[in-house]
This record gives sequence, structure tokens and C-alpha cells, in this order.
Amino acid sequence: MSTREKFIGVNSITFNKRFKRDADCYEYLSLIKWEKGFVCRKCNYDKYYNGKKPFSRRCLKCKYDESPTINTMFEKIKFSILIAFHIAFKISTKKKGMSSLELSSEFELRQKTCWTLKQKVQKAMKSSLNSPLTGVVHVDEFVIGGPEEGKKGRSKGLKKLIVLAIEVLENGVGRAYAELIEHSSAKELGGFLIKYVSKDAEIITDKWRGYTPLKKEFLKLKQVASEDGKNFKELHIHIMNIKGWLRGIHHHCSKEHMQNYLDEYHFRYNRRSNMGTIFDVLIRKMVHYK
Ligand SMILES: [Zn+2]
Repeated sequence: MSTREKFIGVNSITFNKRFKRDADCYEYLSLIKWEKGFVCRKCNYDKYYNGKKPFSRRCLKCKYDESPTINTMFEKIKFSILIAFHIAFKISTKKKGMSSLELSSEFELRQKTCWTLKQKVQKAMKSSLNSPLTGVVHVDEFVIGGPEEGKKGRSKGLKKLIVLAIEVLENGVGRAYAELIEHSSAKELGGFLIKYVSKDAEIITDKWRGYTPLKKEFLKLKQVASEDGKNFKELHIHIMNIKGWLRGIHHHCSKEHMQNYLDEYHFRYNRRSNMGTIFDVLIRKMVHYK
């Protein structure tokens, strides 16, 4: 059995050297899929021989032939797997990602086709919630859309309320997470913190009463006056960047898809100093997605 050599790189030349044809991608998927060894999905037997399709494996006992794409996000893709890899590569490694419109013209696919794959990629980019934020963590909410950016009248339905948490380090900013919420209630804000922030983080929020009851669970939570945002400078820069990204690349983003965009943004953001392996991380998540 060949061992897996992780792809490391962010430029197209490196990518094109490694992935020249569909078979290179199928091999990559198969090595991720059976990284811990082969186990038949139907009968749990652990011996196989090569199946009919490229890099598929056939169970020695029940003869079930499993392709590397089945039961992964690459299942049932109606165009070349190489193109799908290329799209995943572009979305993950380009600083601002790529809209389905841009993908459509770059890869000569219908926009809807690109959009379908892009939504899968975004879902794979969702945090595994395995490494909550630690240290000093600033938290605040902000609004996207609504009367000030929407069309005429009070289009309240378009307003999107988002809560954001960001690690503030001595010399800059660490990781960040954001989530779409309905209300700035203690219940929703607390639900967000429990998912994304470590219990012993030094959380700092503004004076909003929604945060006050959370001190019971987050013992180091402190509330300070916002002073028009002066006490949350890093946080407000981050908010501006998210808004700018959404406006610049994606023009508008419906409430329904907002969480996916927030996940995409932070998947890249949280790996910005480790971009070389980001494509490999994404492909792994797309293979193992449940
Ligand atoms: Zn079997």
C-alpha cells in the first residue's frame, strides 16, 4: 500500500504538477479514504483487491466494489474530478475565494453547477468545533444588510445579525469565528460562546445585558464600555473586512446562505499563516463529511 503524500502548496504550477489527470485525484481520494486501512462498508471485512473503477477497492468476501468518491462530497459530480479538485483548490487558496460566477467563466461550467459544488465546499469548511478560542477573546454582534444597505424602505427581513468572537494576541489577532443569530439574547449569545470559545478564556464584551448572565458559565467574562468601538478595535476591523469581502466578491448574500459564507471566510482566515496545507485539509473534510 502506498503511503499518502500530503499536497502542500498554494500556486497553480505546484497543483498542476501533482494533479495532471483524473487518476491522480482518484488516487489522492482513495489514500485519504482508506488512510486507516480498508474496511468493507457492507460486511466489515478488511481484505480487498482492486475494483473495476480507477482506485476503487473490492471486498474479497462480499465483492462489494467501492469507488473512492462514493459516500464523499465528490460522489455524483457530473464533470471531471480534476476540475472539481481545481475548484476546491482555487476556493481554498485564493485569498478571497471565488464566486460561482468567477468559477463558471474560469472552468467553462454552468454557474449553477459551480454553485452546487461551492456550497459543498462551504459546508466542508464548517468548523469541527475541536479547537475553541482561548486567551483574550473579544466578542460583539453586528448587522449586515437591512435598511442601510438594502433597497428602498425598511426591508427588515434581509437584516442579518451576526455574533463574532476573535482572539486578541499581544501582537495582533489569532483565530476568529462568527455565527448568524436571530436575537442578541443571552440564550443565543451563550450558545455561540459554548460552541466556539473555551470556558477559561478571558472574554471581553460590551455592556449589553445579553452577556451578563453568561458570567455564571464563563467565569472570566468581563464587560467593558465600548467607547464607540475604541475598546474593540481589532474586532471592528474584522467586521469591516467581512463586509468588504461579501460586497466585493459576492455582491449580495441571502440569509439562508450567510452561515456558509461566514464558515468559508473563517476557514481561510484561521489558516492564513498555514496556507500550504489548506487544500489538503479541505479535501480530507470533503472525503470524511458526514
Ligand atoms: Zn464486504
